[in-house]
Amino acid sequence: NLSKRLKKVASYIPRNSKIADIGSDHAYLPCYALQNGLINEAIAGEVNEGPYLSAVHTVEECQLSTLVQCRLGNGLSVISKGEVDCIIIAGMGGELIKQILENGKSQLSTKERLILQPNVASDRVRTWLDTNDWSIIDESILEEDQHIYEIIVAEKSKEIHQNLSDIERLMGPYLIKEKNDVFIKKWAHEADKMRKIIESLKETTQTENILNKIELFCERENQIRRQ
Ligand code: SAM
Repeated sequence: NLSKRLKKVASYIPRNSKIADIGSDHAYLPCYALQNGLINEAIAGEVNEGPYLSAVHTVEECQLSTLVQCRLGNGLSVISKGEVDCIIIAGMGGELIKQILENGKSQLSTKERLILQPNVASDRVRTWLDTNDWSIIDESILEEDQHIYEIIVAEKSKEIHQNLSDIERLMGPYLIKEKNDVFIKKWAHEADKMRKIIESLKETTQTENILNKIELFCERENQIRRQ
């Protein structure tokens, strides 16, 4: 049974498309999308041999070998320009997703839909999209097994949400408008974390004060000894 997170990712796939799922691991998403008639064909990309073999295994077990091609390789290097209609990069950190997009720029045409699901640092993904003229066309935030996940859907050359503000890059232009319960929970938690960082910094300053005092004391002691 596919996770709630990946089901939501799948809900953004354009119907009857050919997808590339980059970092597919077990290839659960492409197999689910085919079995449910969402897509016609898929490529499951993996950079690591273990997950690549897991993908091959799932595809064979589902008897989908003619429709899902598993390819071993780094990021978008496993696809050629214009080969797919939709690229999915899910379940990784925002920085890694950004790097995969940046390194794979030459494999991107203007026609694909990108469905990106960063586990952390979604602002890095939005900043990359914004600076490379991809428009965010939808977003989602959801909670599963005590984790909060964000999904960002982007397309090229639709003049929506270009030039995001700092706060939109951080929180998401659609998510900020929707402000659902999960969004509020996430940012209450983030604010809490930041407050704790400030507290610990204050403690560090205290530690520094104490260290300064020790140093002064030692200096004084040395002076007394020398006398
Ligand atoms: N996409 C699946 C999901 O959302 O459940 C699997 C996520 S799994 C945590 C991340 C996968 O990305 C790993 O299997 C890892 O091998 C793969 N990966 C990491 N960097 C990659 C890269 N540069 N290119 C392709 N795959 C990569």
